[in-house]
Amino acid sequence: MENKNEYLMGDDHKINRRKAIGGLGIGIAAMTVGPVFNVAAAPPAAAGLEDPTAKYPKPPFNEQKQPWPGLAGKMNPRPDHGETSYKGSGRLTGRKALITGGDSGMGRAAAIAYAREGADVAINYLPDEEPDAKEVIELIKKEGRIAVAIPGDLREEAFCKRLVNEAVKGLGGLDILVNNAARQQTRESILDLSAEDFDATMKTNVYAPFWLTKAALPHLKPGSVIIATTSVQATDPSGELFDYAQTKAANTAYVRSLAKQLAPKGIRVNGVAPGPIWTPLQVSGGATMEKLKNFGGDTPFGRPGQPAELGSIYVQLASSDASYSTGQVYGAAGGSGQP
Ligand code: NAD
Ligand code: MG
Repeated sequence: MENKNEYLMGDDHKINRRKAIGGLGIGIAAMTVGPVFNVAAAPPAAAGLEDPTAKYPKPPFNEQKQPWPGLAGKMNPRPDHGETSYKGSGRLTGRKALITGGDSGMGRAAAIAYAREGADVAINYLPDEEPDAKEVIELIKKEGRIAVAIPGDLREEAFCKRLVNEAVKGLGGLDILVNNAARQQTRESILDLSAEDFDATMKTNVYAPFWLTKAALPHLKPGSVIIATTSVQATDPSGELFDYAQTKAANTAYVRSLAKQLAPKGIRVNGVAPGPIWTPLQVSGGATMEKLKNFGGDTPFGRPGQPAELGSIYVQLASSDASYSTGQVYGAAGGSGQP
């Protein structure tokens, strides 16, 4: 774990760590003279204290391009989905989750975190993503949880229905639905955006959650949750993401409307609105090369987020501890954007 993180974080981080250890020394020295400065009761620096500005790689990133939908395993640097870092504490024991786009990115981070919190997990992904999906299935099984892999294209209503049925069958029920899959392709001008493009984005990002929700609802008992991955694009859209941004605004409205509708049934609906996160979506046509090279550089943290940094948000929204939260959108955008 140590090695992997050091690889991910690069040399800057190692220097920062040394500085941090040096800083700890000063802290200890200060504590020894505590009575004089009245800091005897000051707690030692927590072992898990991490500087978010230095935790992960910063731009510039190497140019890279993959065919849609892309693989996390082929990205440079490889994204961190919490494979070696996420520690569970039984927050979702016995729960049953279906996560779309669970092979990579935020969906994978949620899948790993859910399994480590004690949930059984079904993931959906496109057949081309089998190599990423296999890794996730192995990680879920390693936790001793049921892992169900259901590849298929969400743009088909019939598949969405089958997906829910197979997940329910494989898991023995369903109480967490995470509508996370999405299509994002940049087009500089609306004139370059074909009706087929527009349709594919709408089908994946708007129709699929609608179809999946209808299919899942009869299985969801009180206490169940639905989580949507929306985006800062819902409220601060980029010019070159005209179709995608509209779908993310739709996802946010989905959360706020459905939460009201399902509250009396005891089903909570919440959303996660990420900022720039280092995932295959961005290197397979989701960002221009110029944007990719400086990805996340314009956030106050000066870097993109890693999927691992959002896993705990999906856990929190699914957990019964959050029982008074519904219709909420939780942002994670490195200091910029509005959820
Ligand atoms: P990702 O590429 O890892 O995940 C997207 C997933 O969508 C893919 O893995 C794929 O399995 C799935 N998918 C796409 N089209 C599909 C189809 N037709 N049928 C079945 N599955 C399909 O990228 P990600 O960034 O983790 O994306 C997850 C969510 O996060 C998306 O909703 C995206 O809009 C949102 N988001 C991402 C960012 C970011 O910067 N990466 C920012 C804001 C919001
Ligand atoms: Mg993927």
